[in-house]
Amino acid sequence: MNTTRRGLLFVLSSPSGAGKTTITRRLLADDPSLSMSVSVTTRPPRDGEVDGRDYHFIDKRAFDDLIATHALLEYAQVFEHWYGTPLAPVEQALEDGRDMVFDIDWQGAKQVRGRLPNHIVSVFILPPSMTELHDRLRRRAKDSEKVVITRMAKAVDEVSHYDEYDYVLVNNDLEQALVEVKSILSAERLKRTRQLWLVSFVAKLLGPN
Ligand code: 5GP
Repeated sequence: MNTTRRGLLFVLSSPSGAGKTTITRRLLADDPSLSMSVSVTTRPPRDGEVDGRDYHFIDKRAFDDLIATHALLEYAQVFEHWYGTPLAPVEQALEDGRDMVFDIDWQGAKQVRGRLPNHIVSVFILPPSMTELHDRLRRRAKDSEKVVITRMAKAVDEVSHYDEYDYVLVNNDLEQALVEVKSILSAERLKRTRQLWLVSFVAKLLGPN
């Protein structure tokens, strides 16, 4: 166990289309010490998605095996597919005192909160309006109108859980939202309880010199 710092699990949730993926990518690009949790999913890959980078794409049988062997930290059904967070990389990150980012829905956030309450920091990203969200979903050429309707219904459900999160921001402007997300991360990293090295540092500071 790393005795220098307590790693945090930085959970970002939002309805699809609220900009979470872009914010997450930028956050990771700007901070190489962060690693992304790559989920397993039974959803087929979209154009441009890479197995092992965006998701581990697996079938339902393999997914059920992971559940049965307790290999998932959390899992949930979102739309008609299953999604889950592999447990081993999370345990390794906590062991090493590293921070991880999670793009998971409210059901997953709730399970992580239940299992690792001392490590989770959760952020909910709201769209400026549901009309704006609808427009953003429609602009994504890859989503058909039927998919847009399903995602809007899910968005309403997702947003209703905003009050279970530690932090909430409105993504009016991507750059501003990114600054806010980074500020949350910086402040959380400075929490006394995460800085395990402080005890010996202060003891030395106050000790005979
Ligand atoms: P998409 O299919 O658009 O990539 O993701 C759909 C939803 O599933 C998003 O809200 C995303 O946050 C959520 N999701 C992705 N991976 C996981 C996971 O491992 N666990 C849970 N609970 N939700 C996930």
